[in-house]
Amino acid sequence: MKSPTQAFADPNTRVDKYPPKGLVRHSAQSETIDVLADTWTYLLIREAFFGAHRFAEFQRKLGIPRATLAKRLLWLEKNGIFNRVGKSGTHKQYHLTERGIDVYPITLGMMWFGDKWMCEGTPPLALFHETCRSWFSAKIVWQETGEPVDARSIQVRIPSDYWIPKPKRTQRQRRNTWDGSVKGRRPCSVERMLSIVGDRWTFLVLQELFHGNHRFDDFTSNLEIAPAVLSQRLSNLLRAGFIEKDEERGGYNLSAMGLDSYGPMILMKVWGETWVARDNRRNFEFIHPSGKPVKPVAVCSSCRKPIHARDVAYVCNYEPPE
Ligand SMILES: [Zn+2]
Repeated sequence: MKSPTQAFADPNTRVDKYPPKGLVRHSAQSETIDVLADTWTYLLIREAFFGAHRFAEFQRKLGIPRATLAKRLLWLEKNGIFNRVGKSGTHKQYHLTERGIDVYPITLGMMWFGDKWMCEGTPPLALFHETCRSWFSAKIVWQETGEPVDARSIQVRIPSDYWIPKPKRTQRQRRNTWDGSVKGRRPCSVERMLSIVGDRWTFLVLQELFHGNHRFDDFTSNLEIAPAVLSQRLSNLLRAGFIEKDEERGGYNLSAMGLDSYGPMILMKVWGETWVARDNRRNFEFIHPSGKPVKPVAVCSSCRKPIHARDVAYVCNYEPPE
């Protein structure tokens, strides 16, 4: 059987495939992972969507250690995801900023992915779109054409400053400590997806596959990842079913499941370019086979309109934490 990756649109002509010698990708990706893929951080944003505002509420609903909670709330505030209202004690509340609210489509995208690929039986949450009065799931489509996003048919246009000199190695400020275990008290499809892609290296390897790369050596040279670390991340992705070995030409291909993770991943990319990129760089553009630039968007499966957090009600198919 032909692997799905072999149908990628001219992978060799993709302008984002190989960094020129001595250069690396300049993207908001790393910062985006720090914000979105740290599990506790993500779970706090999720609880805020569920209506939690106070320290004690977050603590009770997540069972998170106090010191960890205090640190993460401060960090979310510093990074402009939460706005703190009230000065101290029980008056203190945390509200999502516009930047935080914009995480919602990504959440829906990850939920759709987790429900489809990582969940047996009834999905943990049922979503209701108030606007069209229908139960729905999210679909990630190109806003301009309404077609489902597909990594294989898309080309990209990169800004002139996409490749930058390798930054000096710096000690990372915060380690991603995700160990694959479930931390929250809610059964959560998003958390299941994050149990795989919430690891920084795994996330970056997956990105390389979407850039059209598939060989071990491409990953090591594009990412400057140690071979042992890479092997371990590739076996995680194989075990989780995101990739398959390509017996014919060597290397790895995205499976049908891996290809489906493209939607949530590019929603993260767009979020990063909107909210994390610090200067006024021109964005990376997705180019449809028709030649037109397109943008990914999460829409309602019923009315096909973009979804906003304020328009969604939900029912838990489990006993929610009080
Ligand atoms: Zn709808």
